[in-house]
Amino acid sequence: MARALLEINAKRIKENVKALYRFSRKKIIAVVKADAYGVGVEYVAPILNEMEEVDSFAVACAREGVQLRELGIKKEILILGGVLEEELGIIEDYELTPVVSDREHLRVLGERPINFHIKYDTGMGRLGFLKEIIEDDRIVGVMSHLSSPADKEFSLKQIKEFEEIVKHYPNVKKIHLESSAGVIYNVPYTTHIRVGLAIYGEKPLKNYPISIKPALKLRAKLISVKEVPENYPISYSRTYITPKKTRIGIVAFGYADGLMKSLSNRGYLLYKGKPLKILGNVTMDMTIVELGDTEAKVGDYVDIVNEERSFTALAKDAKTIPYELMCDLSQRIERVVIGECIEV
Ligand SMILES: *Cc1c(COP(=O)(O)O)cnc(C)c1O
Repeated sequence: MARALLEINAKRIKENVKALYRFSRKKIIAVVKADAYGVGVEYVAPILNEMEEVDSFAVACAREGVQLRELGIKKEILILGGVLEEELGIIEDYELTPVVSDREHLRVLGERPINFHIKYDTGMGRLGFLKEIIEDDRIVGVMSHLSSPADKEFSLKQIKEFEEIVKHYPNVKKIHLESSAGVIYNVPYTTHIRVGLAIYGEKPLKNYPISIKPALKLRAKLISVKEVPENYPISYSRTYITPKKTRIGIVAFGYADGLMKSLSNRGYLLYKGKPLKILGNVTMDMTIVELGDTEAKVGDYVDIVNEERSFTALAKDAKTIPYELMCDLSQRIERVVIGECIEV
């Protein structure tokens, strides 16, 4: 079996999509950019594709769109990052739908018969037109993006501003604004939600009103177990010195796999629910943990993320966000899909 394993629970992913749909009553644009947030788009996209609640997919760039088409996805694929000149050929060939957020994107499209969504910047300060209304009958969607969904006052301002813009597009069928966190605002005039994180089982906010359940489990094997004496240095640069005789385990998972170096001497992994402190610096391929009085032995799995400890919790220890942590999950980790044949 794998040294490092990411277990993707298809049943949970589907339940999360259904929970988002039940709460919002809006069809879902499933965001699977960046290899489905590091989870592995080839595993995730087929699970989502067969759900009627999933209307379409969104990715960052044309290349990611091509990858989805090659996986057999026939639904609409939105390219969030717009369209550059050199991508025009594959946008046409693979029937991808760009998001236009700059006059230059319009110029690149020219008169070609390519449908697109148009994006407004209502306070994100990233992509999107400010207030300019574009008249073009290839527009099939209008979107904006919340910059601070945890800030109610600011979000309501964005929601109101977008509503004014949307009024100029009475014939456009897809209106979307809410990401995983934004879903809590139940925006009355949008038709779709554009969600990623919550699908993968991470709650984007504390007190999130939607029942999102963990869908991922990340484990790695112990490849060595030993006892070292008191006053013994651990790992590169000797940032940890044992205060007493210590049983240590070497876990086959390091920063190359996605365990951030900022977890050195701070984070912990889990063995049968028991926390194992990370000792010393996390290294490229290995991390050293204190085994204490557990009966952990070589070949046993240590959990990095499981039912009880989310990527969000681990990210907090690493002083980052779950998005970054997940996107750092390496190709080297083996992926397996479980729970597929159970109907939800
Ligand atoms: C990534 C992204 C999303 C999805 O956000 P989540 O917080 O993962 O739900 C939605 N919209 C845009 C424009 C994005 O870039």
